[in-house]
Amino acid sequence: MRSIKLYDTYEGKLREFVPLEEGKVDIYYCGPTVYNYVHLGNFRPTVTFDLLTRFLRECGYKVRCVSNYTDIDDKIIKQAKVEGKSEKELSEFYIQAYEDCLNKLNILPLFAHPKASEYIDKMASFIKDLEDKGAAYQGGDDIYFRVNSDEKYGALSKQNIDDLISGARIDINTKKENPLDFALWKLTDDDGIKFDTVIGRGRPGWHTECVVMVNSVFNKPLIDIHGGGFDLKFPHHENEIAQSEAYHHTQLANYWMHVGFLLTNGVKMSKSLGNSTLAKDVLERHSGNGVRLFFLSTHYRAPVNYTEENLIAADKLSQRYLNSFKKAYYRLSLENIALEGLITEDYEEFMNALASDLNVSNAMTVLDREVKEINSLSIKKDADFTRLSSLLFTFSKLSTILGLDFHVEELSNEDKAMVKAYNEARENKDYAKSDELRPLLMEKGIL
Ligand SMILES: [Zn+2]
Repeated sequence: MRSIKLYDTYEGKLREFVPLEEGKVDIYYCGPTVYNYVHLGNFRPTVTFDLLTRFLRECGYKVRCVSNYTDIDDKIIKQAKVEGKSEKELSEFYIQAYEDCLNKLNILPLFAHPKASEYIDKMASFIKDLEDKGAAYQGGDDIYFRVNSDEKYGALSKQNIDDLISGARIDINTKKENPLDFALWKLTDDDGIKFDTVIGRGRPGWHTECVVMVNSVFNKPLIDIHGGGFDLKFPHHENEIAQSEAYHHTQLANYWMHVGFLLTNGVKMSKSLGNSTLAKDVLERHSGNGVRLFFLSTHYRAPVNYTEENLIAADKLSQRYLNSFKKAYYRLSLENIALEGLITEDYEEFMNALASDLNVSNAMTVLDREVKEINSLSIKKDADFTRLSSLLFTFSKLSTILGLDFHVEELSNEDKAMVKAYNEARENKDYAKSDELRPLLMEKGIL
């Protein structure tokens, strides 16, 4: 297997990737809370882990990638009231809207897309076990996690527990033993969605939802990679780890990967800051390939700045790639030449770039170079068709690993007849005829 290095936030360094089970990789990344249309930034982790999945599969691993829907949350209850819907109707509606975006972005189908509401009984028994182990307790109307039960608390976000306590906001109404303790379950009989369980009537907290879904879907206490946006590192992921440490004595995932922010005017795009641009609107204005290229243009751990100009530029680049590919593809197809012959040096350079913590910029230089050569070969009268065929074959394979979709419609018999007529007109110096056909062929991307 190829040597792969990934940046592990938990260890705070690049680490050689070694799966827990040979040849297999299990990945989980936190999905959206489905109470409204998500902003563009939500899709940066999605695109990143889709790329990682594609790359690892290309390396020969059997990858199971999972992401959840948080469909139990106070924000959902509140918004359901605003929209006059049940919580389920509301979340189903926004899940559908989210999935429309996934399709446009050419995201591979996931191994599973669990919803928190489907794992309530498992969450309740998980919390009950934590209570039995002394890691959770009831304080007032909440069941809390006892942060002191995890001596490694703060390891992911590199924070010292005493500093965290002194910096924590003290809520005078709380029944917490320690200001850092967090709610696992809210015991309630309010008019929001609630469930009758072994620990009483109520609903789970977000941090418990994810850890239980990870354990349940993969049916194991430790998976290979857990990821999400950079902002989830603390407290969400720290709290997932704390529960896993208390329950299974594992850190839940062997590698923790965090994706940088999407900025707008230098500030993190977020719903709460009111500076967000909805993903669905962006995907109406720009192609899925363009939006994907925009995300991939910056290393996944660095912040990326959203502007319409940046997206337009990414769209243009994707269109330029498609046009070059299409033109050369049609040229070969008219000669009845199939695409074949992987250019090994290009493939290796590309894969080694991705193996270095997903260095897409370096990988893209291979595609850029190939497109330049495709363009120069395509216009030659006596083009080297064997070289052109392997360039297109390799370009197509590499761009698919990046999740770019440069699918080209096959030429119809009618198109082929038109090309034949055009070539004959030129040979016969019938310029009136060739001038008439040229724009039609250009429109189809054949010329
Ligand atoms: Zn999560």
